[in-house]
Amino acid sequence: MENFEEYSTYFVQDIGSKEGAVSPAIVQSASFGYGDCATGEGIFDGSVKKPLYSRMGNPTTAKLESILAKMDEGVGAVCTSSGMAATTLAVMSIVSSGDEIISIGGLFGGTYALFTETLSRFGISTSFFDVDELEAIEAAITDKTKIVFLESVGNPNMRLPEIGKIADICTKHGVVLIVDNTVTPMSVKPLVLGADIAVYSTTKIISGNASVLGGAAVFRAINVDGEDKFKGERYKDIHKFIKKMGALALIPNAKKRAMRDFGMSASAFSSYLTLLGMETLPLRMDRIINSVEKVAKALDKEGFNINHPCLSAHPHHERYLIDFKQGCGSLLTIDMGSKEAAFAFLDKTKLPTITANIGDTRTLALHMASTIYSDFDEKQKEFLGITDGLIRISIGLENPQDIIKDFIQAR
Ligand SMILES: *Cc1c(COP(=O)(O)O)cnc(C)c1O
Repeated sequence: MENFEEYSTYFVQDIGSKEGAVSPAIVQSASFGYGDCATGEGIFDGSVKKPLYSRMGNPTTAKLESILAKMDEGVGAVCTSSGMAATTLAVMSIVSSGDEIISIGGLFGGTYALFTETLSRFGISTSFFDVDELEAIEAAITDKTKIVFLESVGNPNMRLPEIGKIADICTKHGVVLIVDNTVTPMSVKPLVLGADIAVYSTTKIISGNASVLGGAAVFRAINVDGEDKFKGERYKDIHKFIKKMGALALIPNAKKRAMRDFGMSASAFSSYLTLLGMETLPLRMDRIINSVEKVAKALDKEGFNINHPCLSAHPHHERYLIDFKQGCGSLLTIDMGSKEAAFAFLDKTKLPTITANIGDTRTLALHMASTIYSDFDEKQKEFLGITDGLIRISIGLENPQDIIKDFIQAR
């Protein structure tokens, strides 16, 4: 194994304790006694670092937040009850009525619905672009643009964004970049590439075994002494947090503008299960990114219509080799040509679990048009790359030869 070595030591060492209980303590309490009034006052004004109430923060969840912040070289993280909650927290802590979002690339169905169906009801509009429309993206930025949002890998269109170039555009225009890095934790480091916030569904490969829902937003430090986009007029609502909390400002901003009022808090038990999953994340990720390539290449050779950027015919193959040296996660897609052919194929497979999840220890598969995208219209499906015969596969930890054999016998 060569990938993710730097994480292997620190995850297990930081998650486990050298003294007392080795496994993280589950602090299952909604509230916490302050002891005396002065301490209570200090907890509320932030000068005393003790738990206030579990909606605003929990010690077990705080441990997970510190591990995720370090993983992404962020200044802090806020964990949530699900991945959608993390996106909602990050977005709602920044936008107001009348603002605009620019969304880039193939988008997770829930995020697409959040932007088009829900935020639109509150006067927040979103425009959508392909990852390669850099000029159009730059031209679309207005005074009202508050967020550029992208996914590290198009799910399920498998298109790869040039995150560094998009971050440069955002820096030039002083606009916040949020990257949904659910599919590529460790492989892609959004904050290092210039994003301001990374969001995750930890439900997927981070916890890794379908045991728990969860999400996280990881924040970069505000540059207090030099220039910083958050100091501009565009983000004036955040200035009071910069004044009070300096480099950490995005954390109280997320807690007070979203967590306190929407209440999408992670539970202590969920955070515990996610921590257990993280201990083996580097091992699982390494095996899965190697298996995905093996399966994609073998099935491509067999004449399947495979979409994965490790294949030389993929339009972003070069980008994959240069910018995605540690892979692009567990996904590949197969286009069987029609819904009937896709159903017949999937029902004949024996190995994959047919479900909407991804990033599991076991291989998962799903026909896209009849499930997640069933109430999308033709134009939306075309933009998102959803064809009638499209099957999304998330490769698991099984012997890749067994996966290949099963898919070939099912054809
Ligand atoms: C699953 C997923 C989400 C939503 O996560 P939940 O934990 O199901 O709420 C968001 N983004 C991506 C890329 C996902 O795969």
